[in-house]
Order: sequence, then C-alpha cells, then structure tokens
Amino acid sequence: MQIHRNDDIYATLGVKRRINAAGTLTRLGGALMAPEVIDAMVAAAGSSVDIGELQAAASRTIARITGAEAGIVTTGAAAALTLAAAASMTRWDITKMAALPHADGFAHEILLPRTHHTGYAHALRAAGARLVDISHNDRGTGAGVRGIEPWEIETAITSKTAAFAFAANPTSIGDLPTVVSVCKARGIPVIVDAAAQLPPKSNLCRFFELGADLVAFSGGKAIGGPQASGILAGRRDLVGAALVQQLDMDVAPETWTPPDLIDRAALKGVPHHGLGRGFKVGKEEIAGLLVALERFANADDAAVNAALEARLKRIAEMLGGLPGIGTQLLSARETGRVPQLRLVIDPAMAHIDALGLSRALQSADLPVHLSERFAHQGVLIIDPQALRAEDDEEVVAAVKRVALA
Ligand SMILES: *Cc1c(COP(=O)(O)O)cnc(C)c1O
Repeated sequence: MQIHRNDDIYATLGVKRRINAAGTLTRLGGALMAPEVIDAMVAAAGSSVDIGELQAAASRTIARITGAEAGIVTTGAAAALTLAAAASMTRWDITKMAALPHADGFAHEILLPRTHHTGYAHALRAAGARLVDISHNDRGTGAGVRGIEPWEIETAITSKTAAFAFAANPTSIGDLPTVVSVCKARGIPVIVDAAAQLPPKSNLCRFFELGADLVAFSGGKAIGGPQASGILAGRRDLVGAALVQQLDMDVAPETWTPPDLIDRAALKGVPHHGLGRGFKVGKEEIAGLLVALERFANADDAAVNAALEARLKRIAEMLGGLPGIGTQLLSARETGRVPQLRLVIDPAMAHIDALGLSRALQSADLPVHLSERFAHQGVLIIDPQALRAEDDEEVVAAVKRVALA
C-alpha cells in the first residue's frame, strides 16, 4: 500500500473523512496539525534518540515558554493528571512508586472541590489516589456569593493529603489564589487541570504565576500538536518524579544515564517500570508537540482571530434566510477563546430541532459535525478550530440540504 502525504488515508482504510466544525474534540481526532508540525513528526520518526534526553530538551522549551521550572510531554492532559497524582503521592520514594496504584499505606488523598469534579477526575483516581470532596462553592454552582474559603481547605488537610486538584476555567480561576496560599503553607502540591484553557495563550503562564505546582495542558487541542500529546509542567522535583514513572526503566543500573531532571541522588535505587509506563510518549509526539507549542506561543492572535472571523462572517452570509435558523457571530473577545458562529434554531419555525439537525449532518455521506455544547438550548455552534477553510462551503451546503429538505 503506497500512501502519500496528501492522500485520503481514511478512504484507503475504508473509513469516512469527517468535516469537523465542532472544535478540537478528541473523538474527532483533535487538532489538525500545521505542515511544519507534521514535518517535525516525520523528521523525528527516522532516527533513534534517548527519550530521557529528548524529554529534558522538551523541559527546557516548555519552561522557557510557560515560565514553569520544568515540563515534560505526556500522552495527553488526562495522562498528565494521572502522572501528577502519582508524583504527588510518591515524590522520589521508589517503594511508593513500586506500590502504585495501591497507595493505602501512605498519603494518597487528593482534595477536590465539589464543583471541580469533572469527568476527567477519573484520571487522578487512576494513579491510586482517593478523591476527597470538599467545599460548598455556591459561586461555582451559581447559587450564591461565596467561593472556596481558606478554612474549608485547612480543616480538610490531614496526614493523608497528597495534593489538591483544581479544574481551571474562567469561573473557578478566582479561587486559585486562596487554594495556593493555604496549600503552599502546608506543603500540599496544587494540580491544575488546564487542558482546554487555551487560547488565550497568556494562560500558558498564568497558572504558574498564580502559584500552581503542576499544570496539565492538552497538546492535541488549541496548541495544534499531535492528538495524543499533552504537557505536564511545574515544580522541577514533581515533574522529575513524574518522568521517572513514565520512562522505560528496563535499564542496567551500571549504564543508566537519566537526565538532570531526575534526581538520582534522591532515589534509593533504580525504579522499575512505573505507573506511567503505559503512557509512553513517542519521539514523534515530543518533536511535534514542541514545534506546535513554539508556533502557538508565537502566533499573532489578533490576525488569526480576524481571519477566522472573516470566514465565519462569510458562512453566516451564505446561511442567511434559512427558515427558523438564525446566526449569531461571537468574536474571540466575547467567547474568551476563538470566534464562533452560533446557529440559533427556532423550533416553531424550523422543521427540525438542534439535535435533529446535528444528527442529520453527522449521518451524511460526507459527515459534518457542529458543536452540540448548547444543543439543549436550541443552539449549534460552528467552531472553526479544526475546520479546514476549503470545507467552509460544504458546511453551508450540508446545513442547507437538511434545513430545506
Ligand atoms: C480535554 C480535556 C482533558 C483531557 O485532555 P487530553 O489531552 O485529551 O487527555 C482533561 N481535562 C479537561 C477539562 C479537558 O477539556
């Protein structure tokens, strides 16, 4: 089978290519990579390298761009959370590393505010941690004025506490300084899930500026890296303890040459394969992620957003006049992320509701996916992050076919 760079590999494999106007969803393959990111992966694929040395280079790049002390490439933000939980529980203790995920004999509780309990909290538990529900957080639920309070954290911390987990978003972020100030004083690492908090790219640095100890980012979302990549960045000792639990450890102690990030003097011996061995990251992913990260950090956001907005404006014009379907263009400033085009479906006027329209688009011969995040409110969103410009017209044609059927 001969495959070339621009072939439709999915057709060759008997699988449908899909038009993704739903954002960088993992189930649709995440971000699309820019040619220079693809080139980095291809270049990396042809030679051998010491993965520990490559991760040390990754750490220097991630540190320079984020302001963190250190960072490693992971197989995604979820893997970064599992490694963060493992590192917080074990630190440099190789006996604890060997025991995971059975952690009953040592500090293994992770404090998690109720309103931060996303589906991704499972990634913390996967390391063997027990999640401890804390706080009231009426501000998070919209029921009241109070956020997380210092006493709620102080009284929850015990000798079993290994870390505090914080799910960052524009609503929760105001509570991070309180969490950091209480946890820092007690030596409890604060792990921030910032997987999808990019853009804005200022968030690459923001959580470290606010004092987070470890932060997880997705590489396959806005950063535009390989789908199966992510970043775990933060305190050097914790990142190092995560790395040693991710690397292939089938090594001869006499010849093992770990990178500086791994504090060999702090290790009582050479650990065996750790909890993170199943999250091994490839040389291609590391190279691709680093090129994508540089690209993302250096991009001219205003120009990128203006180009996306111009495309969405054109799509909105082409969709004008459909019965029962209105459009609403939101700028990057309004969404806090990238521009979006909302299709507002009036069930009294349209012959189909939002989920019906979405289902019909997805089952077409060339399936089109719009974001269903607000479908329960009668709104489908065209999110342009993973939408190729050459597919814009097909999105319009597909919506028209269903709406006018
Ligand atoms: C996407 C996401 C993750 C998981 O990220 P991956 O890189 O796909 O592993 C974790 N947390 C949140 C909040 C996310 O949106």
